[in-house]
Amino acid sequence: MQNRIESSDPCPAWCAGIHPVGGVHRVEVGSVTVDGKGVRVVVLQTPSHTPSVVISGAVYVAVHEEDHEDMAELLTMCGQPALADLVRRAAQIMNDEVLKDDSAGGAR
Ligand SMILES: [Zn+2]
Repeated sequence: MQNRIESSDPCPAWCAGIHPVGGVHRVEVGSVTVDGKGVRVVVLQTPSHTPSVVISGAVYVAVHEEDHEDMAELLTMCGQPALADLVRRAAQIMNDEVLKDDSAGGAR
């Protein structure tokens, strides 16, 4: 018998798996230094919620799923194309996962 915890869902494919069982799924997409401060872009997913793209570090910004592209555009306009790229990549990871969930099947 495995010691499974009922309320926990398995890690999505993108999750780095570095968290307690039943905790928040998380993967760091990358990090950049802006004005001397480290800024990370991560994908987070609280159990039974859809994943979200979060900019964290010196600031904490959860980017609304409809605003990924606009946020990336804003960051590019602000001279931060590397950070914009991380946001786009995070959005890609998130959208892939959402699409997978949508066609929910046991086929793996
Ligand atoms: Zn996980």
